[in-house]
Amino acid sequence: MSECIFCKMVNKEIPIDPVYEDDKVLAFKDINPKAPVHILIIPKKHISTLVDTEESDLETLGHIHYVANQIAREQGVAESGFRIVNNCNKDGGQEVFHLHFHLLGGKRLGSFW
Ligand code: 5GP
Ligand code: ZN
Repeated sequence: MSECIFCKMVNKEIPIDPVYEDDKVLAFKDINPKAPVHILIIPKKHISTLVDTEESDLETLGHIHYVANQIAREQGVAESGFRIVNNCNKDGGQEVFHLHFHLLGGKRLGSFW
């Protein structure tokens, strides 16, 4: 059994209310939302960080972005706008080491620069 919290969600060891699910991808609301819409989109396969992805993950990585498109539409932020964020490793502020993409929207997001 995996100790990874997101793998536990994928394996239904932790109950979640998925926003989206298919054979490759799972999406669910962030427990500590930083915006009115804050959804995490993860590959079902355990990949620790973006820099651990391989060429064989390309389809899943592309698919995640298409799923983000669909979720943004369903959440009503496709036109108003949103942001996809991946925090990678220490300087990126990554806390959960199972690759995930934040979909943030529903308010004017601040600029990092
Ligand atoms: P990171 O900093 O690694 O990019 O983001 C991890 C995110 O996962 C954080 O926004 C945090 O709120 C979220 N998170 C951590 N544990 C849980 C959990 O048990 N359930 C949900 N839904 N989100 C979680
Ligand atoms: Zn995992």
